[in-house]
Amino acid sequence: MKRVVVATRNAHKVEEIRTILSEYEVCDLSIIADPPVVEETGTTFVENATLKALAISRLTGDLVLSDDSGLEVDFLGGDPGVYSSRYAGEEGNDILNNRKLLKEMDGVASRGARFRCVIVLAREGVVLADFSGTVEGTIRESLRGSSGFGYDPLFVPEGYRESFAELGEEVKNSLSHRARALAEVAAWLARRG
Ligand code: IMP
Repeated sequence: MKRVVVATRNAHKVEEIRTILSEYEVCDLSIIADPPVVEETGTTFVENATLKALAISRLTGDLVLSDDSGLEVDFLGGDPGVYSSRYAGEEGNDILNNRKLLKEMDGVASRGARFRCVIVLAREGVVLADFSGTVEGTIRESLRGSSGFGYDPLFVPEGYRESFAELGEEVKNSLSHRARALAEVAAWLARRG
């Protein structure tokens, strides 16, 4: 089975990627001794995904996959976007991030939004390709559901009435931004043999 190292500390992302790329041995950063914390200094998803993929791919001979993703809310001009994981100031604090989003959207009628995911593949310090996926939806007025992570309890994908966190991993993994980007990755890897 071919090995892919995912350049992230987000265990939820690794789990989703492992489930979707089921034909690959998907490893997390624990296979690398003392992996660096890569500063996400880019202003776009592709810049940040590239930074992470390159940094980790210099430390292993394996294929490296990095995911940079986030929520774009129309009323907020595309925010929180690349700053989704630190929207409320503290890296990865989903509770505070969701609370801040609810506050910003309080009383707002226009609630359109999308999740965007950019994936970069790299090997030994060279970018091989990048891929992207989006899923359109709306922002709920309150949190609902317990599955997933991040903004999942507030995001209702188009065509559904429930949030990603209520729909659960099977439905999310069939239509999410990450699933769509990973479908492109899988097709590309299959073509490359
Ligand atoms: P990254 O690790 O810098 O790519 O930040 C991703 C952030 O975007 C996460 O911490 C979440 O806040 C948000 N996000 C990305 N993908 C998802 C998802 O599938 N569900 C919910 N939130 C997500």
